[in-house]
Amino acid sequence: MALGEYREKRKFKITPEPSGKPRKAASDGRRVYVIQKHRATQLHYDFRLEHYGVLLSWAVPKGPSPDPSVKRLAMQVEDHPLEYAEFEGVIPEGEYGGGTVMVWDKGEWSPESDDVDAALKKGDFKFTLNGKKLHGSWVLVRTRGFGSKADKSWLLIKHRDKFASTIDIEEKEPRSVLSGKLLAEIARDGGGDAEKAATGDPKNGSKPGARAASKKTKGKKKPKA
Ligand code: MN
Repeated sequence: MALGEYREKRKFKITPEPSGKPRKAASDGRRVYVIQKHRATQLHYDFRLEHYGVLLSWAVPKGPSPDPSVKRLAMQVEDHPLEYAEFEGVIPEGEYGGGTVMVWDKGEWSPESDDVDAALKKGDFKFTLNGKKLHGSWVLVRTRGFGSKADKSWLLIKHRDKFASTIDIEEKEPRSVLSGKLLAEIARDGGGDAEKAATGDPKNGSKPGARAASKKTKGKKKPKA
């Protein structure tokens, strides 16, 4: 695994995303799991699992479903640096992935087979998530894709266990697990396009006052952090 493709796509003088300094994986064997909700050209959810010092990454257009009868398309994308798991903010418009990024869920994961690389190669990768929103057993199954993406297409599916459910989790739990913010609030606070970001928030969840901490400072411009 290398971060060459990740770095090639980004200008780190412009984007606030991490460039990916070498970092050792936690020696206790814990592995980071994160899903970032990303209002870029298209809204999608970036599903990431730590493996050998990077984050394996899939873009899931509709986000994960805890309903085992629902299969969600997951396109594998370039590995991301471990620090990316902490990234929430605004990628400038015109840059790669320009738009608003939210840490939608975060926690740890563990593989359900001894050899993760073999499972990935086989296209049948089972694992357990222990996040704030998602839990239990899941699988990524490689599927037949199209053209150049032929080997990058996977389906993300919940296994039947006590965490399976038919709730629309994207609609019911739209806020960041890091800041409690909606996409529009992250965009506003980060100097991004709040109107565009708001199109990724549930229509009934973006009302001001839904959260006590979302105070509005009218007229005054807050300096960018
Ligand atoms: Mn993305």
